[in-house]
Amino acid sequence: MNQIAEKVAAVSPSLTLAITAQAAKLKKEGIDVCSFGAGEPDMDTPDFIKEAAVKALAEGKTKYTAAEGLFELREAIATKLMVDNNLEYTPQQITVNCGAKHSCYNAILAVCDPGDEVIIPAPYWTSYPEMVRLAGGEPVIVETSQKNGWKLTAENFEEAMTPRTKMLILNSPGNPTGSLYSRAELEKIAEIAAAEDIVILSDEIYEKLIYNESEHISIASLSKEIQALTIVVNGFSKPYSMTGWRIGYTAAPKALAEAMNNIQSHTTSAPTTFAQWGALAALTGDQQVVSDMRDEFDVRRNYMLDRFSKISNVSVVEPQGAFYFLVNIERMGLKSMNFAEKLLSRQQVAVVPGLAFGADHTVRFSYACGLDVIKTGLDRFEQFCLAH
Ligand SMILES: *Cc1c(COP(=O)(O)O)cnc(C)c1O
Repeated sequence: MNQIAEKVAAVSPSLTLAITAQAAKLKKEGIDVCSFGAGEPDMDTPDFIKEAAVKALAEGKTKYTAAEGLFELREAIATKLMVDNNLEYTPQQITVNCGAKHSCYNAILAVCDPGDEVIIPAPYWTSYPEMVRLAGGEPVIVETSQKNGWKLTAENFEEAMTPRTKMLILNSPGNPTGSLYSRAELEKIAEIAAAEDIVILSDEIYEKLIYNESEHISIASLSKEIQALTIVVNGFSKPYSMTGWRIGYTAAPKALAEAMNNIQSHTTSAPTTFAQWGALAALTGDQQVVSDMRDEFDVRRNYMLDRFSKISNVSVVEPQGAFYFLVNIERMGLKSMNFAEKLLSRQQVAVVPGLAFGADHTVRFSYACGLDVIKTGLDRFEQFCLAH
């Protein structure tokens, strides 16, 4: 008897693990590795947020909350969505989850029947296709071009559609691309989704980390019609450097919100109570901490953009958001795993191979690391590219 379910056997293990393990081994041997692998901000969680969670613990807020999360937090999230995103939701339409990754999974589970197709633009966040497979759905990967800023066009979207298409996953600002969709681009995509009744999962976790005076638009805010088709995903990990707290949320049409609450009530009961109190403090406290973090990322981004533009044989699109550069290595003639392995062994620089994002001609550099590491790391990267 096959003990492992087929849909689980179909899920690939994390491709990034090999490089990460190798980098860790070198570090342990005392070798100075410049790591651009981080997928989380390198700053500490702001003190006022920690203090709120400590206070909640001291006050005995240590029991279950409602499955859908603390009412006060859902109220604050509804206010945030109105103020920041011009989106009207009642607290009943908000579900607090154990991280935005969990939010995405709940959304996919709530929407996908076996055989349903989910359109995922590549390069994509590594977990989307695997989540779709776990839910019994079929990921349909759609290539985007560097020329178009690694963004899905309306034409790409239309071409990928079949009668089985149930959902589109959009991630703006994007990981690993740093791309940000404009209002005009979203309008075209929304028009097609509305005409065909396609649900949109809009992952907006990097909303607060955008540069160059760009504007983040939530696709759900374009019209009531598109809001009725959209599940907005957002969370606390990236804007407040709270990755270990595991708090994210969805905002959705009522029936979908109820379906996701049902899933959650039978799987996790609710997210951690005192972490939710910390999240409430994050949303209602002084937002200066968020713009300070953004400014720090922007200094690193500008430095790296300048350096990458001077290195031959590689190219980048200027990232408008998040904290990653997706570097095109096509001209180096190596696949991404091989490239990352050689870069690590020869120059002790760790990056994430693009294969993990469905883009084998790229590698991802995170700038969630200090400027000193970035400077040394890019000196070495330049050497590597020159020697090649
Ligand atoms: C980091 C990340 C998330 C969610 O992170 P959580 O820690 O689960 O809140 C979601 N989407 C993308 C694209 C991410 O990079």
